[in-house]
Amino acid sequence: MLKKNDAQGHSVHPATASLHAGFRSDPTTKAVCVPIYQNTAYELDGDLAKIADIYNVKEDGYTYTRIINPTTRALETRFAAVDNAADCLAVASGQAATFIALANLCSGQPGDNIVAAPFLYGNTWNLLHNTFRRFGIETRTAANSEPAEFEKHVDDRTICLFGECVSNPILDPLPVRSLAEIGRKRGIPVVVDNTTTPLVCRPSNLGAAMATYSATKYICGHGTTLGGLISDYGSFPFQKYPDRFPLFSAPDEAHGGILWHQAVQEVNDLGKSAALLKARMTWLRDTGPCASPFNSFQLLQGLETLHLRMRQHCENAEIVADMLNNHPKVVRVIHPSHFTGRKRELADDLFDKRYGYGAMLMFEVKDAASGRALIENVEMIYHVSNVGDARTLITHPVSTTHTTVPREKRMAAGINDGTIRLCVGLEHADDIIRDLERALSAVN
Ligand code: PLP
Repeated sequence: MLKKNDAQGHSVHPATASLHAGFRSDPTTKAVCVPIYQNTAYELDGDLAKIADIYNVKEDGYTYTRIINPTTRALETRFAAVDNAADCLAVASGQAATFIALANLCSGQPGDNIVAAPFLYGNTWNLLHNTFRRFGIETRTAANSEPAEFEKHVDDRTICLFGECVSNPILDPLPVRSLAEIGRKRGIPVVVDNTTTPLVCRPSNLGAAMATYSATKYICGHGTTLGGLISDYGSFPFQKYPDRFPLFSAPDEAHGGILWHQAVQEVNDLGKSAALLKARMTWLRDTGPCASPFNSFQLLQGLETLHLRMRQHCENAEIVADMLNNHPKVVRVIHPSHFTGRKRELADDLFDKRYGYGAMLMFEVKDAASGRALIENVEMIYHVSNVGDARTLITHPVSTTHTTVPREKRMAAGINDGTIRLCVGLEHADDIIRDLERALSAVN
């Protein structure tokens, strides 16, 4: 079995971890691929005192697939190694990952609040501003992504600073490193959604406490499977702040008065993150969005080639962004590889240039009619409002995801009438360019 560090202390590269971490072979058959344990429950045989210990989180063990499953656990362990995390929790979707990661930090007392970035994926915006509000959790929005704007909203009940490493679809870079400095000073964890830039951005190196991923996107990579992952980088000392995070240091009634910081020391496999142990044993148990074992298997297949695909996605995106930038019918291109000034500084700090600058880009044609004409004239590229498929995907937000958003509001957020979102896939860049050029020739 691959260890995190070899005998000489070298840490294992993500490319290697994605193939080897967390699972060597099936103990019975010696099968090399992680088997699909399409299974609900586990036989509770043997010593009943030992079984009670598993239920009481005093020992590792399998009880019920809503809480833990061997295929899903292999995915969690493997992804933790790839993402440089202490541990990881897999759930049913990216939305479930964000919901559980944030809900898990709440104290359950009035006053809990999240300070969020100004630009968020639409369903996450709704989760924070509507669904969480109905549970009494307030979201305060920073006026822009400058760290000082976040700090203005912070108080002694702020449970996290939250944003997307680079926002979908506006591509606003988050100053993760500076937010983490504020977080360290004020005792507040930074939680980031790194869905659109796995491996390209390494939240662990920037000081983030946790990251959420829609594994549905690049980690799956083929547009076949929904899934979500939460990484805990193990860097935030929740227990040091009992007023802000009482459930991390006082007995938790949600699990028989357990003390999570003690429980995490009693278990072995699940003993790497008190936060994720608590999330699994309370939030996942009670709300139920577990990953299906089949989906975990699919995500393990995607994970094996994530590093290769991300490199190619990023390379293609830069080639396409350059072409669009020089096209007479394109008013402007937004891709982090083209940023200047402060945004460039942030992008250069966020991204590992051995990969590139991500594969999502926006560009603008003259008006809404031109945007519609472009979409109607692509032949190979798919008109799909998803991200992170192996195929290139295009959308005209004004005709789809943003139809119900008032014009002034969406324009203020950078979505103009002729804005197009492109998620550059793995086809040959020449073919992507040819399809776009053909479609642009039909545009005014
Ligand atoms: N976060 C981001 C940045 C996304 O783009 C998406 C989906 O598009 C999600 C979260 C939600 O992911 P899922 O569809 O897996 O629930």
